[in-house]
Amino acid sequence: MSTGELIWGDDGWPGPDFAENARRAVDDSQLRRNVRKATATIRERRAGLVAETPDWQRLRDAGAAIKDDVLDHLDAYLEQFEQAATARGARVHWARDAGEATRTVTRLARATGHSEVIKVKSMATQEIGLVKALENAGIAAHETDLAELIIQLSHDKPSHIVVPALHRNRAEIRRIFLDGMDDAPRDLSDDPHALAEAARLHLRRLFLTTKVAVSGANFAIAETGGLLVAESEGNGRMCLTLPETLISVVGIEKLIPTFRDLEVFLQLLPRSATGERMNPYNSVWTGVTPGDGPQEVHIVLLDNGRTNALADHTGRQALRCIRCAACLNVCPVYERTGGHAYGATYPGPIGAILTPLMVGVEHAPELPFASSLCGACYEVCPVKIDIPTVLVKLRADAVKAKPHKAQDAAFAAAAQAMSGRRRWTAALKLAPLMRFIRHGAPPPLSGWTRTRDLPDPPTQSFREWWTNR
Ligand code: SF4
Repeated sequence: MSTGELIWGDDGWPGPDFAENARRAVDDSQLRRNVRKATATIRERRAGLVAETPDWQRLRDAGAAIKDDVLDHLDAYLEQFEQAATARGARVHWARDAGEATRTVTRLARATGHSEVIKVKSMATQEIGLVKALENAGIAAHETDLAELIIQLSHDKPSHIVVPALHRNRAEIRRIFLDGMDDAPRDLSDDPHALAEAARLHLRRLFLTTKVAVSGANFAIAETGGLLVAESEGNGRMCLTLPETLISVVGIEKLIPTFRDLEVFLQLLPRSATGERMNPYNSVWTGVTPGDGPQEVHIVLLDNGRTNALADHTGRQALRCIRCAACLNVCPVYERTGGHAYGATYPGPIGAILTPLMVGVEHAPELPFASSLCGACYEVCPVKIDIPTVLVKLRADAVKAKPHKAQDAAFAAAAQAMSGRRRWTAALKLAPLMRFIRHGAPPPLSGWTRTRDLPDPPTQSFREWWTNR
C-alpha cells in the first residue's frame, strides 16, 4: 500500500479546512456567478445528450462493470499492461507516491538534456505537484491547455476537473494574458476569439520548439499497452506527436482491459464531461512507432494512495471515476463554493470521497461532510459511483478517527430521552430552551448553530394537542 501525499497548504492550496474555505468562497459573489453560469451550461448540454441516448443506463452499467473487473484484478491487468507497453517500445516506471513520481519524471526530463517541457492537461500531474517539482529542478513546464495556461499564468489553482478556469470570466482572462504573456497583443480585447487566438500563437511557438512533453492519460489499455488522451483543443495531440520524448504519468486505476472497452467509455465520457457526443480529439499511442512521433516513450504508473482506496470495501468504487466532473456540475455545494474550497486537487463530490480515501480520512476529516447528501451526483455519474453511500461511510470513519465529545454527549442524552415515553415528555418541557440556543448559544453549542437553523419550538406537543381535542 502507498501513502497518498498531501499537496495542499505548502503547495499553495488553501488547506483542508473546508468550512473556513467555503465561508470565504460564498462571500465572493463574482466567483459564485461564474461557477453557476458555467456549471448550468454544461449541465443542460449533458442532459440533452443523455435524453437522446436510449441505452444510457445500460452504458452506465457496462462502464461500472468494466471498471469493477479492473479493480478486482488490478494486479494482473497492471502486469499485462506493462508487458504489452514494453513490447511496443515504451519504458514503464512504477511510483508509490508523489515524491517517487516527480523524481522519476525529473530524472527522465533531465536525461534528455533539455530544460523545457510542454504539458497536456492532467489531473495526475496536478495531484503530484509536478510543475513545481520540475521548476525546482530548473526545468520549465508549460501548460498548453487553454484553461490550464490561464491558471498557470495567474499563479492560480484549478477549480474544476474539466474546466479548470471556470471561476474566471473573459475580462479577467484578458488581464491575465496581458500581465503574463509577453507576446500577447497590447490591444487585446476580451472577445473569446481574440483571447483564443492570442493563446494559439503563444502556444504554437512552444509546440514547434520543445522536445519533451509530459501527459497523463484518460485510459490505459491492458491488452495493447496503449494510452488514450481525450481533449477538445488539439493541444494534446501536438504534445503527443511533435516532441522527441514523451513522459506520461498515469494513475493505476486508469486501466481498461481491452481496446474494445473504449466503445463504452468514449460514449460516456464526452457526454458527461463537456456535453458533446464525441471529444474533438481522441489520441491513442502505443509504445514507439519508428520514424513517427516521439521516439522515447515513458509511462509512470502512479499509486499515491490509490491502493488505500482499493482496500476500503465501500470506498473502492471511487476508483471507477473517469474524471468527467458531471458530479461537480450538479452539486449544490460545489455550485456555491467552487473548487478551491475543497483544498486539494480533486474538488466537488468526487473530491469529497477520493481525497480522504487516498490520504486517510484523518487528514481530510471535513471533506465527507461537504455535501447535502441530495444524491444528484450518483444520478449523473456515468460509472454509477454511489457517492452518498461512500460519504456516509467516511463520515463514520471521520468521527471514529476524531471523536467529538460534546456532540457524542448530546446524542447520548437525546437517545436516552427518546427511549421512554415519560422521559420524552419530561424532555419536551425543555423545548423552550431551543429559543435560547437559536438566538445565540454559548460554545460548544454555538458551533452547531453557526451553520444550522433551529426552528422555533411549538407551543404544545402533539400529545397535548391530541388530549385537548
Ligand atoms: S465520480 Fe462519476 S460523475 Fe464524478 S467525476 Fe467521477 S465519473 Fe464523473
